[in-house]
Amino acid sequence: MKNPEHCDHGNSAPYDVLKNLHYSQAGAGRHKCTICAYKEGYQAGIAEGIRRAKEALARLKNK
Ligand SMILES: [Zn+2]
Repeated sequence: MKNPEHCDHGNSAPYDVLKNLHYSQAGAGRHKCTICAYKEGYQAGIAEGIRRAKEALARLKNK
């Protein structure tokens, strides 16, 4: 990871990404920490990618 920033919760995120996040998203919502929010979103993205890959494989098997 390039130029990682670390938070007190043990997570890290690239500085370039954090710089571009809107700080309003990190305010009153459930994400108080932009670095933790990044990690959560990143993992959700991976999970979604895996889910779509499994769907695509299932479609191939059914042909
Ligand atoms: Zn954090």
